[in-house]
Amino acid sequence: MSAYDTNNIFAKILRGEIPSHRVYEDEATVAFMDVMPQAEGHVLVLPKAPSRNILDVEPAILASLIVTVRKIAVAAKAAFDADGITIMQFNEAPAGQSVFHLHFHVIPRREGIALRP
Ligand code: C5P
Repeated sequence: MSAYDTNNIFAKILRGEIPSHRVYEDEATVAFMDVMPQAEGHVLVLPKAPSRNILDVEPAILASLIVTVRKIAVAAKAAFDADGITIMQFNEAPAGQSVFHLHFHVIPRREGIALRP
């Protein structure tokens, strides 16, 4: 597996070098709106610590992250009056990862509405 690249786009967002629509932050994690949402209310949840993906993250960081993922899922379901929540997470390019800072997708879902590609 490749090393963590400190110039990946989420690292720049975390440093404030690129704007984002932040919806949550605590000492270990951040959540912001996805710029190309696959459904209304699509949020990304990241650790502040530099992990490339789930294959190299420290378990304690992952534990903080999944707690935030749940908080965002509950909040997004209420905020967007969703019927359900899809949570997705990709590791390395062949598996669909395109930004190499660990993140979870939290996506509100409505009955009968497919995700946008
Ligand atoms: O999980 P994966 O790495 O494939 O997804 C990266 C996600 O980051 C995409 O959903 C993309 O829309 C989002 N993104 C973003 N802001 C950027 C660049 C990418 O929200 N500046």
